[in-house]
Amino acid sequence: MKADLNEWGFPMDRMFLAAGPCSAESREQVLESAKALASGGVSFLRAGIWKPRTRPGSFEGVGLKGLAWMDQARAETGLKIGTEVAEPAHVEACLEYGLDILWVGARTATNPFSVQAIADALRGTDIPVLVKNPMNADVGLWMGAIERLANAGITRLGAIHRGFSSELETRYRNAPNWKAPIELKRRMPELPMICDPSHICGKRELIPAIAQEALDLLFDGLMLEVHPDPTVALSDAEQQLTPQQFFDLIADLKLSHEQSDSAAFASRISELRETVDGLDSQLLHVLSQRMEVVRKMGALKMEQNVSTFQPHRWQEIVDDRVAKGAGMDLSESFVLQLMQSIHEEAIRQQEIRRVAGAE
Ligand code: PEP
Ligand code: MN
Repeated sequence: MKADLNEWGFPMDRMFLAAGPCSAESREQVLESAKALASGGVSFLRAGIWKPRTRPGSFEGVGLKGLAWMDQARAETGLKIGTEVAEPAHVEACLEYGLDILWVGARTATNPFSVQAIADALRGTDIPVLVKNPMNADVGLWMGAIERLANAGITRLGAIHRGFSSELETRYRNAPNWKAPIELKRRMPELPMICDPSHICGKRELIPAIAQEALDLLFDGLMLEVHPDPTVALSDAEQQLTPQQFFDLIADLKLSHEQSDSAAFASRISELRETVDGLDSQLLHVLSQRMEVVRKMGALKMEQNVSTFQPHRWQEIVDDRVAKGAGMDLSESFVLQLMQSIHEEAIRQQEIRRVAGAE
């Protein structure tokens, strides 16, 4: 957790917390949410006013009148207020109501035309804007959306990791795929990164573990959906927390830090890191030897006009390495991904030769 992210204009000397209902549904619901959250260190009250729904006919948000309810909630509780904008008309309405912060949703972040239109509508203002990850794990597209806003003169920017849509049935509504936010953080180290466990999980019982994992990965804060009575919520009912569940969750979370002052920790971790550095060198050495052999096999295949890709051999390799990995505490998905990556490079190396040989 960073001690000071004022460069981004966020009150981030502590964990940044966005909380509130998925959607603003009625004046009473917005006020009740705000009053329930007002006591507890929330950075801003969230509520969706315009809801991007997968299919028409579901609840698509209350529209403009919801902004007036949020404005009233702010006046009565002192909480800052923020909502999602998907088009210039939304931006104009939010600026008119003086919203404190805006965010670009996952579906909108996927479309550079929409992001550019939002950026153009924001030009000349300096409201803080958070950008959710696009639906697919395209880090360049996520960065591009942030850059479009920065180019329009927005200086207070942050990212929200809300998981990635997948055609596979997974435990989560949107797969966390942590390597995507970690890669964005590597490319934009100063950008505050907030996690939205509600949209990753889709079910409230999965939220605590994801929220804790985000903090363990040094995220700067959380956005959580909180509804006075999730059972009657008009959208995302299964993932919204009651205010009590929200406060219990926040109280249980453990904040980790990038460094520790303990000398014993420093010496033990540096020993272990040395070991890891040595093992990585060995790994690279073995990989380089393996590729050397792969190139020899490539030459042999080329001589005999044998295909680069050998489906049966590949299946054997996968089965064998996954089975061996299981006996060494290495998960199936890890071994599979590792072997896929090695195999992809092996094919590339054999094909370079083949294409060069054909010229
Ligand atoms: C939301 O925050 O309610 C929302 C629609 O999120 P996302 O853009 O992540 O789907
Ligand atoms: Mn939602």
